[in-house]
Amino acid sequence: MITIKDVNKSFGDHHVLTDINFEIPKSNVVALIGPSGAGKSTLIRTINALESIDTGEIIVNGTSIHDKKTDINKARTNLGFVFQNFNLYPFLSVLDNVTISPIKVKKQSKAEAEKRAKELLTSLGLGDKFDAYPSRLSGGQQQRVAIARALAMDPEVMLFDEPTSALDPEMVKEVLDAIRKLAHEGMTMVVVTHEMGFAKEICDNIVFMAEGKIVEVAPPDKFFSNPDSQRAKDFLKAVL
Ligand code: ATP
Ligand code: MG
Repeated sequence: MITIKDVNKSFGDHHVLTDINFEIPKSNVVALIGPSGAGKSTLIRTINALESIDTGEIIVNGTSIHDKKTDINKARTNLGFVFQNFNLYPFLSVLDNVTISPIKVKKQSKAEAEKRAKELLTSLGLGDKFDAYPSRLSGGQQQRVAIARALAMDPEVMLFDEPTSALDPEMVKEVLDAIRKLAHEGMTMVVVTHEMGFAKEICDNIVFMAEGKIVEVAPPDKFFSNPDSQRAKDFLKAVL
C-alpha cells in the first residue's frame, strides 16, 4: 500500500533523511517514533509531498507520489493528513471546514457533502458542533474536526503528525480514541507520536528513527520489551 524506497533528503547541506526504506501493507498502522530532530515530520510529510525528496521513490496504492507526471492534488485526496496544530480554517464553521474539500475537489453536491460530514462529525462526538467556529472549540474538539475533515475525502491512508502534542492532557484520550477506532476499522495509518502506550496498543509496527535514519523496525511487543539497537534502548530509557 505504501512503499518508501531509498529516500534521501537534505535541507541545504543538512542531510535529514538517509536511505529510508520501508513498506506499510494495507490496514497496517505504523508508529513513527524517535528523538526530536530525527526526521519524523519530514518523512511523514514526504508521503503526501508536503516535502520534496532528493532521491528514491514513494508509492501509495500504485501512485508514485514524487513522479513529475503524477497529479499530486489528485493523489493527495487519497491521503488524509492531520497536523499537530489542527490547521482548521478559522473563518469557516465546523461543517464548512469538513465539506469544503469534498465540494471543491471531489465535486460533491453541498447536500451530499453535508450529509457525510454530519455523519462523520456525529461519529466523532461532535454532533452538536456543526455551526460552531473553530475558535470556540477545545483543542481536542478541533483535532476531531480535523480528523473528520480528512476522512470526508474518503482517503485510503491517514497520516498523523503528533496529533495530540498540542492538547491538554485531558483531551488526549478523545483524540486517541478516534484514531484507535480508525485502526479497528482497518484504515492504513502512519502516526508520528510520543504516546508510547498508544503506539504499543494500536500499532502493527514501530519504526524507530534517529538522526535521519531508520534504526529499527519491530512489532511493538518486541520493540518495547527488547529492542535490538542501543539507540532504541537509550531512547526508551529516557521516555518510559
Ligand atoms: P520533533 O520530534 O521535534 O518534531 P522530527 O523528528 O519531526 O522532530 P523534523 O522536523 O523532521 O524532526 O526535522 C528533522 C531535521 O530537519 C531537524 O534538524 C530540523 O531542524 C530540520 N528541518 C526540518 N524542516 C526544515 C526546513 N524546512 N528547513 C530546514 N531544516 C529543516
Ligand atoms: Mg516533528
